[in-house]
Amino acid sequence: MTHYDLLIKDADICVMDSTMTRIPQGWVAVNGTDIAAIGQGTTPENITASDTIDASGQVLFPGFIDTHTHIFQSFLKGLGADHRLIEWLNLSALPYGQFMTPYQQRLAAQLTCMEAIKSGCTTLCEFFYTNQDPELADGCIAGMEDTGIRSIFIRTFQDCGKDYGMPACFIQPASQAMEEVSRLRKTYANRGDMLSIWTGPDVTWSTTKEGYRTMLEYCNAENVRYAMHIDETEVDDDMCQRNYGQDIVPMLDEMGFLSDRMLATHCVNLTNDEIRRFADNGVSISYNPVSNMYLGSGAAPIREALDAGVNVSVGTDGAASNNTTDYLESLKFAALIQKGFTRDAARITAPQTLQMATNGGAKAAGMENRLGSIEVGKRADMFLFEPRKLKSTPMHDPYATIIYSSSQENVSTTIVNGKIVYSNGQFSCGIEERDLSDKINIELDKLRKQVAAL
Ligand SMILES: [Zn+2]
Repeated sequence: MTHYDLLIKDADICVMDSTMTRIPQGWVAVNGTDIAAIGQGTTPENITASDTIDASGQVLFPGFIDTHTHIFQSFLKGLGADHRLIEWLNLSALPYGQFMTPYQQRLAAQLTCMEAIKSGCTTLCEFFYTNQDPELADGCIAGMEDTGIRSIFIRTFQDCGKDYGMPACFIQPASQAMEEVSRLRKTYANRGDMLSIWTGPDVTWSTTKEGYRTMLEYCNAENVRYAMHIDETEVDDDMCQRNYGQDIVPMLDEMGFLSDRMLATHCVNLTNDEIRRFADNGVSISYNPVSNMYLGSGAAPIREALDAGVNVSVGTDGAASNNTTDYLESLKFAALIQKGFTRDAARITAPQTLQMATNGGAKAAGMENRLGSIEVGKRADMFLFEPRKLKSTPMHDPYATIIYSSSQENVSTTIVNGKIVYSNGQFSCGIEERDLSDKINIELDKLRKQVAAL
């Protein structure tokens, strides 16, 4: 007899490996944090497990990897609606971000991560920029950890940007920011790959050239990954031209900033030359289709990037510009926007969209050996998709169904690092949706008063 911790049997398995293997009736056995065995057909009689999930009629997918969000913005859904980036920032994220407390960050993190888990995400990258108080980062991390999601916490920095409305309390020298990154890396060093700490410049118009250099020196010395908002709108290049006489991507390329440890978010305005520079240096992209539509930023050249060999992942962006952390919703937009803007229905297919959401995300996170597909030896990060719901009935092809006809109600079970974190409407962390919503509304009343008094 072989005993496992968890057995998922009779599932239709979408492996999401390089050849898009399907196992129409299969089983997956988990030991500890990892996938220990996978088989086809009925489960052999010599296999037992502490916990067994009968997945008949359901599809097993590897967990999605949301490569970009801003957790505190889950408090701000709908604020600043119908404005472009800079005006929107000054109506929602920037004024409210100044007043968030560590407790509010923790609640926002619970909300964001639970929404993500409920839509099939097993890993979430938090791009954190409310840096006025170090304890805010710890509050945010605590909320992420409460939910059991795999976390990448990107502690960014701003060392200028007042002209564009960046609150003075967010701005600090890059050297000071790297000390804080270092503190976080030490504090959470024992979390293994359940929590990674990265850094990055927030955005071009809040970073000096000296700031890029200081961060790069730190990341190169310590082998730390970094992310950055880049070319979300024309403001990035306008600002860079005015201050440095060149566009941002060529400037970063000359500085040696483009590397395979870099995750570039948005990339709406990338030129073909800039795409080539990304490909040459192994930069990954985080494509944020809903946010790019919401803020009227435009459609990122994703087909061009993929054709050039750039790794592309998908993010939701903060819930103030989405206005949710529903990853399934973002995936539908991810495919449709590319088709619609180019009048080409085959521009990005459903399987390609899923590849970006799984192995694209894994590579962007630097964890392609551990995440992104259902294979023996990889982390047991996956979710079960229940197609027998009105919206997804009938299912001819699981790839098309999950991208075009699904919602959160299709996700029946989410497993992270071998543990069930969500099952049939209940979160294993014990947090109730209604209770969390009530707590957040109480805190929002306080925040609204503080912003009104500005
Ligand atoms: Zn963002």
